[in-house]
Amino acid sequence: MQVDSPGHCGLLGAGSTLDVNRNVILQNQIIKSTEVKNSNGMELESLKRQLAYLEESNVEVKTLVTDRHTQVSAYMAQERPNIKHTYDVWHLAKAALQNLSNCFMSASIGEKKRLLKIAKTKKFQAIKPWIVSIINHIYWVTSSSKHEDEKEEKWLSLLNHIVNVHVHKDFELFRVCTHEVLDREWLKPGSAAYKKLEENLTRPRLITAIRKLSDYHQTSSLEAKHALDNQFATKKIYYPYHSLMARLFCSNMHFNENSQRKQAKTKEGEDRWVVIYPKAHKGGKSIARKIKEEATYKYIEAVQLESLKLRAKYRTLKRAQKHANHVLPKEPMSLVEKYLGGNQAESKASVVARRV
Ligand SMILES: [Zn+2]
Repeated sequence: MQVDSPGHCGLLGAGSTLDVNRNVILQNQIIKSTEVKNSNGMELESLKRQLAYLEESNVEVKTLVTDRHTQVSAYMAQERPNIKHTYDVWHLAKAALQNLSNCFMSASIGEKKRLLKIAKTKKFQAIKPWIVSIINHIYWVTSSSKHEDEKEEKWLSLLNHIVNVHVHKDFELFRVCTHEVLDREWLKPGSAAYKKLEENLTRPRLITAIRKLSDYHQTSSLEAKHALDNQFATKKIYYPYHSLMARLFCSNMHFNENSQRKQAKTKEGEDRWVVIYPKAHKGGKSIARKIKEEATYKYIEAVQLESLKLRAKYRTLKRAQKHANHVLPKEPMSLVEKYLGGNQAESKASVVARRV
């Protein structure tokens, strides 16, 4: 299971729960920013609701995979000790990549001290060829380790590895690198680039995160779900609360109907592939990606049939509205309603009168 809350216009946030083993979305929770103190609290509130929903549905949650979010981590540790809480490797790798890229970014910002800039850039230049390897290392650490100490040692072995030392004397679990002899541009121990990298890779918060990396590796599915959500409910348009809910439910149905699609085959029965050039590698790396079977849309018929049934049952708009009010969750207060706290809003005439 994984929880994540992409923002919709900042006013509404949606969190989804993915059952990682079956690759199906179990639910969506939509949160209005007025329901929490600040938008930062939406993530935790969304998680609480998702867990509550699962509990009400008699689903026992044993392991939870989320991205790193301070409030969520604290809540899980204090209030939910029975659930194993781990971090999604995809999010961590992405954050680490941004962090490492920033080594160069921060050095290249600021036009005033041009000379200093060049010196700084040069200083850390040796890190650049290592970035892709470091990111790959994160994935390898989590997929090859059985427990937290092993993950930490494997991660820290990088600091030896990048200076061409592959025997890790002080380690207990991971004493020798497993790779063949390599020919690379090793960093110099004690060099500015090495120190910068060491400082970056050993940050306590990062080490804690590495130790908590998830054993599940299919969580990129949730990223695919977010992309799908954006097709059903683009972030460029503001959708009212219940409208957004309906759109995300359609997205769930589409996702769940199609999440088990197999690889497509040619007429001759051969597997179909497409070659892609990921942006992260700036076109320098090609990867073969499976082409899946065509998507199906059976859920549309189910939705249409249900709509016709409701249409026949509630023949006037008034009756339909009454029924909708009865079955739909109540829309949380708007910003203005929350501010007014039940008091009457100033009339339009009086607002206009102040202007003229
Ligand atoms: Zn090595």
